[in-house]
Amino acid sequence: MDVFERINFLKEEINKSNYKYYVEEDPYLTDVEYDKLFAELKDLEEKYPMFKTPDSPTQRVGSVSEKFFSHTHKYRLYSLDNTYNEEELHKWYERVCKEYNKELELVCELKIDGLAIALTYENGLFSLGVTRGDGVTGEEITQNLKTVKAIPLKLFEPKNLEVRGEIYMPKSSFEKLNAESIEKGEKVFANPRNAASGSLRQLDSKITAKRDLSMFTYTAIFEDEDDKKIKGHYESIMRLKELGFKVNPNIRLVKNIQGAIDFCKEWETKRFELDYATDGVVIKVNDFAIQRDLGFTARAPKWATAFKFPPEEVSTKLLDIELNTGKTGIVTPVAVLEPVQLAGSTVSRASLHNFDEIKRLDVRIGDTVLIMKAAEIIPKVIKVVDTKEHSSLPEYEAPEFCPACGGKLIEKEGIVGLYCSNPNCGQLMRSKIEYWVSKEAMDIDNIGPSVIQQLYEKKMISNPVDLYRLLPQDLMMLDLVQEKSASNMYFSIQESKTRPLNRLLTALGIRHVGKETADILAGEFASLEDLKNADLERLSQIEGIGGIIAQSVYDYFRDENNLKMLEDLKSLGLNPVSKAAPKSDKLAGKTFVLTGTLETLSRDEASALIKSNGGKTSSSVSKKTSYVLAGANPGSKFDKAQDLGVIILTEKDFLEMIK
Ligand code: NAD
Repeated sequence: MDVFERINFLKEEINKSNYKYYVEEDPYLTDVEYDKLFAELKDLEEKYPMFKTPDSPTQRVGSVSEKFFSHTHKYRLYSLDNTYNEEELHKWYERVCKEYNKELELVCELKIDGLAIALTYENGLFSLGVTRGDGVTGEEITQNLKTVKAIPLKLFEPKNLEVRGEIYMPKSSFEKLNAESIEKGEKVFANPRNAASGSLRQLDSKITAKRDLSMFTYTAIFEDEDDKKIKGHYESIMRLKELGFKVNPNIRLVKNIQGAIDFCKEWETKRFELDYATDGVVIKVNDFAIQRDLGFTARAPKWATAFKFPPEEVSTKLLDIELNTGKTGIVTPVAVLEPVQLAGSTVSRASLHNFDEIKRLDVRIGDTVLIMKAAEIIPKVIKVVDTKEHSSLPEYEAPEFCPACGGKLIEKEGIVGLYCSNPNCGQLMRSKIEYWVSKEAMDIDNIGPSVIQQLYEKKMISNPVDLYRLLPQDLMMLDLVQEKSASNMYFSIQESKTRPLNRLLTALGIRHVGKETADILAGEFASLEDLKNADLERLSQIEGIGGIIAQSVYDYFRDENNLKMLEDLKSLGLNPVSKAAPKSDKLAGKTFVLTGTLETLSRDEASALIKSNGGKTSSSVSKKTSYVLAGANPGSKFDKAQDLGVIILTEKDFLEMIK
């Protein structure tokens, strides 16, 4: 391949991975692989400038999708150029200081691994939120951003400014979200950055609201004269803090590059103590006048650089693949590794996600594999190291039978993974009971996995219903359990009978119904009985409930074993009602479809009003739709409503209707 061909190959590969990463949030390269290709392209373009074109990915940032309305930024957003070692940092510093004949003060900040956004404040009120996109144009996601609690809707002072910051998902929440997705057989996010981006770029802000997102603000463009007097970056960050923004406390003003290098070294290991992912340190010239003077390249400011921490990837031997059966019966493979040091801890197990992933990576027991820490907490196998042994090792065969009970493992259409088909599988039941008592389900204190294990082994319980049949004297038969703790356990179990419908629906562990979906269902139905009687069409019309979930819920309530269990629960005193039962029935029997941006109500608020007045919402317009509630810039639903002759309401008409 000659240079020209190589450059074209690199451009194509980088553009493809940009799309997968920024638009689909499903990268197929690791960041290290991507950065290598990017550095090679930059290098070749510098050596052979005649092949450098304006459409090269080295001349642009990010990508925009067509999922949202696009918005042209008032002030352009840039990416950052990278440095990887002390030598490169010195070179960068020499370059910026050259013109000024003096050492320049620098500000060091952690580089938060999330999604860049720009927020506009008018007279102190949050008025517009846009993703970075390609730097010139971004996606308008104001409604979704309003659900992020770290974003002030009103500042302490009525100021006009634009701020930039990084939306991120804490590592702990990222892991929880992925664990839930694995349980549901859904796709997992590769890293917290993709998870933050995927959560924020949802068409339904209700979903965004349920994801744990936060934001650190790191740039301000002041528009008021008094604030324009601020002379440097450090001072501007302190001002942002005063106005009510969340800024990262780990920031330092240093005299020269040595101060910055010390900061980088300090955080190279300390970052593992944080509950958010950082992939480096951003070093910025403090003085605004010098920043203006230095300016930008096509892609990044010349007055800043990102020092990237070394990749946290190591290779080790795969000793075995362990199989675990979870609460929905899904069997997940876990890599058992020769213990190795990674990101500050010893790792001997790593995630392999599912059997498709094993096939995709062609992982074989005995291979040398590369592992990294996603979110620097959960290690995962990212690839097989090309060794001589690999081809002589037997290919990994996915299991046919459940490792816990020997039941046949089955595949289900549209679901990633293998399931144990035996409803009485012991491991499956124990996982179900553990989930039942967990905080996000029925929240039963004092009953943990070891108590469940004992109760199960002593044949005192075989499913969650049995918990409610236990008496204090039964619990006293467990090892080390005295009268007092037996009575505490008993009361915790009894107390859980008062949990509302969304909790019970979560606890049931219906395939594809996690906490979020359970909340949606409980917002729609007043009781378990109502949900049980809902037909498939009714279920699939609910906003946020897709066809697969609707089918799964419908099937659950048609299974005799499940119905028997629900009857048993009812006879034991569990018959919860929804907290969101209708307040009026003015809209009873009416189905609404929402489109466009309403004047005063958010989509969530409008949906809640429809439901609390007895109406239903649906995501698509059909002849059965009673009304389409349309705001500014409506989508194709508006046209369809006109074609079908469905009544179109303005927000005012709607509010009048429920008055
Ligand atoms: P970047 O994330 O490396 O750096 C620029 C960004 O840093 C800014 O836009 C801003 O969002 C962020 N940032 C965080 N903290 C900051 C702070 N304190 N001050 C200023 N900015 C801060 O650049 P990028 O253009 O967003 O993405 C490029 C990187 O993304 C690549 O280096 C690669 O690691 C990754 N990527 C990976 C793939 C893949 O396929 N794996 C594809 C595309 C990009």
